Amino acid sequence: MEQRGLVLINTGNGKGKTTAALGTAIRAWGDGQRVLILQFIKGAWRYGELEAVRALGGLNGKLEIRSMGDGFVFHGKKEDEAEYERKKQLARDAWAAAEREIMSGAWDLVVLDEILYAIHFGMVSEAETARLIEERPAKLNLIFTGRYATEGLIALADTVTEMHPVKHAFEKGIRARKGIEY
Ligand code: ATP
Ligand code: MG
Repeated sequence: MEQRGLVLINTGNGKGKTTAALGTAIRAWGDGQRVLILQFIKGAWRYGELEAVRALGGLNGKLEIRSMGDGFVFHGKKEDEAEYERKKQLARDAWAAAEREIMSGAWDLVVLDEILYAIHFGMVSEAETARLIEERPAKLNLIFTGRYATEGLIALADTVTEMHPVKHAFEKGIRARKGIEY
């Protein structure tokens, strides 16, 4: 029997959302699956993981990462309107790429890294995300990451994990570490 694909969400304020998605991507790739990672925020992936993904993908062409955006961070309505519109256009371009790739049938797993910010800030709607989840190829697995997962998407997803920051080295003034943070 054909198994229906799963929708996973990694959210919360603690560390581990993107790296858990990367771990799952590597697991799927190791199983022979075709895996695409789309970064909604360019620069959210650090040097170490980019090198690893490129090296593995280079072995068989079944693991790819593509960066959208231009390194911006979302601030929502606090920022001026022109800046918000510029970021919104980049998020819309990323969304268009996600739709195209998901519907292409070329992938077994698609990771939409940091997309939950774009949804939270109203650049991608919950309704269109729900529609894409519904219309995607039946066996495709999807992972969404980012803080602020919406209630509607949590309801639709199969597996939702909230990273809870019990403590973080940053609070002691320890700067990002190579191999841990990048
Ligand atoms: P990672 O990429 O390490 O899995 P993440 O995807 O859960 O982290 P993001 O919100 O995307 O978290 O932020 C990425 C960076 O911010 C990482 O370097 C991470 O260590 C750091 N970070 C995550 N959570 C916290 C926190 N609660 N306090 C300080 N820094 C944090
Ligand atoms: Mg992240």
